[in-house]
Amino acid sequence: MRRTLIAGNWKMNGSLASINELMNGIKSGLSDVTNADMAVCPPAVYIPAVRELIGDAHIGLGSQNVCDQASGAFTGELAASMLKEFDCQYAIIGHSERRSLYGESDELVARRFAMAVESGLIPLFCIGETLEERESGVTEDVVSRQIDAVINTQGVEAIAKCVIAYEPVWAIGTGKTASPEQAQAVHAYIRGKLAALNAEVAEKVQILYGGSMNAGNAAELLSQPDIDGGLIGGASLKPEDFLAIGKSA
Ligand code: PEP
Repeated sequence: MRRTLIAGNWKMNGSLASINELMNGIKSGLSDVTNADMAVCPPAVYIPAVRELIGDAHIGLGSQNVCDQASGAFTGELAASMLKEFDCQYAIIGHSERRSLYGESDELVARRFAMAVESGLIPLFCIGETLEERESGVTEDVVSRQIDAVINTQGVEAIAKCVIAYEPVWAIGTGKTASPEQAQAVHAYIRGKLAALNAEVAEKVQILYGGSMNAGNAAELLSQPDIDGGLIGGASLKPEDFLAIGKSA
């Protein structure tokens, strides 16, 4: 049985004051979230503060990216070993904003994935098609290509060490959500593709949905058989909304 994971991607939002309020808000309602694990991925500079704020609460901690190299002359990057020192368990890898705004290729994303796994971080591995790709009918080809970049370099077994986040690019931050049927269809395709290679990996891997998931649409999305949680952007910045998503699992 796969656990449900609700992970918040704060992106480049917040301040020392607001993260205090946000974390205290999340912690105060956490006992009502009984069927999901919760995690937050703050901007890197706030990771130490958020770790302190988490204390012994059952909230996972993640970064929004990780370098594909162990250490050295890589200005602006964060080493997996550094993130581990601050008790990060997760690292978002291949978010569409990284791919589209900062030119991260499938190959670079796969290398970041490898470094995360090698260092004991769980990649929150983001994949998904643009609107143009969906309208041209190539959604499955796109997600397949993005997953193959990892499978072809690290084997299908590596997928069991990550959490996949299917995030249709046209639904991220736009208020447009994939319908439960649209999302389930892609999740089932992904699981089917993996099952053809390794049934155990396919059964085990959590596949989250991301793209304008909120307190109002979460229950229906999360009730789909192949949707194992959510990667939440905007709604993760409001404790009551983030908790409501967790409670709807
Ligand atoms: C995201 O960026 O991962 C995301 C899902 O954002 P939003 O929920 O705001 O669409």
